[in-house]
Amino acid sequence: MYKFLDVLGDLLFPARCPVCDNVVPGWDEGICSECLKSIRYVELPRCLKCGKHIEEEAKEFCTDCDERKHYYKQGRALFYYKDIAKAIYRYKYKGRKAYARVFGREMVYFLGDYINSLRAEAIIPVPLYKRKVRRRGYNQATLLAKILGETLNIPVYENLVIRNRNTKPLKLLNPEERLNNLKKAFILMENGVKLKRVIIVDDIYTTGSTIDTIAKLLLERGIEEVYFVALAIGEST
Ligand SMILES: [Zn+2]
Ligand SMILES: [Zn+2]
Repeated sequence: MYKFLDVLGDLLFPARCPVCDNVVPGWDEGICSECLKSIRYVELPRCLKCGKHIEEEAKEFCTDCDERKHYYKQGRALFYYKDIAKAIYRYKYKGRKAYARVFGREMVYFLGDYINSLRAEAIIPVPLYKRKVRRRGYNQATLLAKILGETLNIPVYENLVIRNRNTKPLKLLNPEERLNNLKKAFILMENGVKLKRVIIVDDIYTTGSTIDTIAKLLLERGIEEVYFVALAIGEST
């Protein structure tokens, strides 16, 4: 259901294709026909852990997952990060909040069956530091989580895990510093809800360290299985 302000927003800010940012005609919101020709959805065979596409059919896991222990049980992503890096940048930093509707719908369409098969009791968006949410006006992962939750009828727990301070940009840190920095960044709030299986939602999966940090926190509190879904993922090395 559109709220009045959303309708007004649509009139003032016409629907754009999130991939190329061109205005799409009428109410036909989505990825435009030109971009549909080139955009790639992560195809089979996929790593059984992180869902990255792998080249060799015979392998079960990608090189990254072969070398690294993950706390989450499994996950999947929709697009190759490279293909929509600019789109995600605009989505996060250039106020293109409306992309969430298209991205969310694509995730439901392509990952919905997978998500349903996990029988998760909760969807948890990767939190942002609250000052960042205020500045940006939204958390890009929460917007996706809400569309998934509403469409697939899974409760979204947006305040179960919170980010407690503004962590340094991850790209400036080495892997060990990254993990230490991240460990301190998330707090699990007590809410009295007993959950067994949950799905973490994020916009980008890179090394998986963010998802793993949150997964570890959840496992320590008795949650049995943690999965993730992401809008985009890197390619296997
Ligand atoms: Zn386009
Ligand atoms: Zn993998």
